[in-house]
Amino acid sequence: MQFELFAPFEEKLFCEITNRHGGVSPKPYDTLNLALHTGDNPVNVLKNRTIVAEKYGYLAENLIYMEQTHSDNIHIVEHAGYNKIDNCDALITTQKNIPLMVMVADCIPVMIYDPVHEVIAAVHAGRNGTFQQIAAKTLQTMQEKFDTSFHEVLVALGPSIHSCCYEVGADLADIAKKSFGEKYIQTRKGKQYLDLQQMNFDQLASLGVPEANIEISAICTSCNQNYFSYRRDGITGRFAGIIKLK
Ligand SMILES: [Zn+2]
Repeated sequence: MQFELFAPFEEKLFCEITNRHGGVSPKPYDTLNLALHTGDNPVNVLKNRTIVAEKYGYLAENLIYMEQTHSDNIHIVEHAGYNKIDNCDALITTQKNIPLMVMVADCIPVMIYDPVHEVIAAVHAGRNGTFQQIAAKTLQTMQEKFDTSFHEVLVALGPSIHSCCYEVGADLADIAKKSFGEKYIQTRKGKQYLDLQQMNFDQLASLGVPEANIEISAICTSCNQNYFSYRRDGITGRFAGIIKLK
């Protein structure tokens, strides 16, 4: 899938969210699993990454991805020639033709584009990352290093688990309510559900990102069988958000 928010910039920006179809991995990674850490055969994962690179016209060897650890560690990519960034959950670059990838199965792939200064970022915002405000911290780093304006930047949240399905226990619900606000927990039939998308939206908006510059995919990965969902499936693959300056 692609974001409407980025459509006007297609000559300068590539951004795609993959789904689980079109790859070579067997169950339970069927079929387009893009993550090496899942238990899938690495040969299949690398083949899948090549399939995606060829489909979208970039070199698989230029792809940069992260050993994602639910941290708030942010890395600025200055050149191609290395692939995996250890212990990291956000990548930023101003370099052209270096695709940045974030891998998810329920967590939010946050894709960021500053069209004024030509800066991109790929962010992994799961529960821990969201609690640590990783998307907002990434924007702050973009501002410090590249003069990104919060009023001009575009932020898109890809398919992820929504509050229809993201049930959390009482302890976590209490933490979310006390630390962030009652509004982020929905209660239905005695069960409590966390709204990570709204939490990210509010963090971005409070920095000054205009509402019109934030797009949130309505796709819930747990509801939609076209995407991997860790909550739904347990051992499974990862789809990805990939962003690149042309
Ligand atoms: Zn759902």
